[in-house]
Amino acid sequence: MKVLVTGGAGYIGSHTCLELLGAGYEIIVVDNLCNSREESMKRVQEITGKKLIFHKIDLLDEQGLDNIFKESSIDAVIHFAGLKAVGESVAMPLHYYHNNVTGSLNLCAAMLKYGVTKLVFSSSATVYGDPHTVPITEDFPVSPTNPYGRSKLMVEEICRDLYAADSSWSIALLRYFNPVGAHQSGRIGEDPNDIPNNLFPFISQVAVGRRAELAVFGDDYPTYDGTGVRDYIHVLDLAIGHLKALERLDEHSGTHIYNLGTGRGYSVLEIVKAFEKASGKQVRYQIAPRRPGDIATCYADPAKAGQELNWSAKIELKQMCDDAWRWQSNNPKGYI
Ligand code: NAD
Ligand code: UDP
Repeated sequence: MKVLVTGGAGYIGSHTCLELLGAGYEIIVVDNLCNSREESMKRVQEITGKKLIFHKIDLLDEQGLDNIFKESSIDAVIHFAGLKAVGESVAMPLHYYHNNVTGSLNLCAAMLKYGVTKLVFSSSATVYGDPHTVPITEDFPVSPTNPYGRSKLMVEEICRDLYAADSSWSIALLRYFNPVGAHQSGRIGEDPNDIPNNLFPFISQVAVGRRAELAVFGDDYPTYDGTGVRDYIHVLDLAIGHLKALERLDEHSGTHIYNLGTGRGYSVLEIVKAFEKASGKQVRYQIAPRRPGDIATCYADPAKAGQELNWSAKIELKQMCDDAWRWQSNNPKGYI
């Protein structure tokens, strides 16, 4: 089976490519490398001993995309390509909508033209906004609070409309919680441009000495230690979720939403402690004001993915920290 992976050079995409190759899939990756490096693709091939095909193409380049579909008989698409920085999306909404929504429209149009109707899409728990309670199930109301989240919801809706118009489509909308960690080899991992927005890469960079200290955004939330609680999921567990979703699409048309999380939340200070233990380094921090738009607590009810995909997250927090640290300490400046 031949799978087109958009955004495959990125953090989650590269780990998913690794699992796909391991499971015997043929892969074609398209990525414009706006937030990644081709080196990740070299390393995925090194680790697996298997080949993939890489094309540096932007999803906004309709002709380039068309050529890929024309020259390869693609069976299914996993669509990771997108911009993902919440703050940047607030500052540059049109850029985000254009990249994430128009890029997805171009992809779906090419799929339609070439009769490819199996799609796995990277959505996000961000679509739930501030949930009225936790854990979050897939039928919770959606109300994203920023352009990034709204771009994800728009693509979800485009997918639902595609199926409504043509019932041969099989689409999995995977709502990720907080992906962290790295492959155990320490050869691929998360390599953010500039200052990391997310907690794990920020903590890793403090531990490795690239940043002086972590700002803990708020210690007055209604959580047990006052800091924000999130559902951190190992990126390899997440990657396997994509393979399970792909398998299910073979037999089930429709649009299917799945939460991919562990079902348990950890506070910022719990993560700091776990990371210090894994790395043997002190993670200096200071309590700072709340980050605008942040919510107190967010974690998944992943039961639907358990029942329908036969998937559950297996990897514990200790290994998430061990693996994130191995990647960071072996590659202090990322892929450079
Ligand atoms: P990433 O930035 O590492 O990977 C995204 C990849 O898409 C990058 O390699 C980038 O170069 C590529 N890309 C972006 N726009 C493109 C375009 N127009 N054409 C071609 N390539 C393009 O991010 P990630 O963490 O691996 O996230 C993958 C997907 O999962 C994204 O859609 C993201 O929104 C979604 N997601 C991520 C998280 C998270 O916390 N990492 C959480 C929920 C959802
Ligand atoms: N966080 C923090 N300092 C940082 C980055 C994040 O205290 O430098 C907190 C943030 O307020 C949230 C948690 O860590 O409670 C996870 O944040 P992240 O940005 O990784 O994920 P998201 O907010 O998207 O769930």
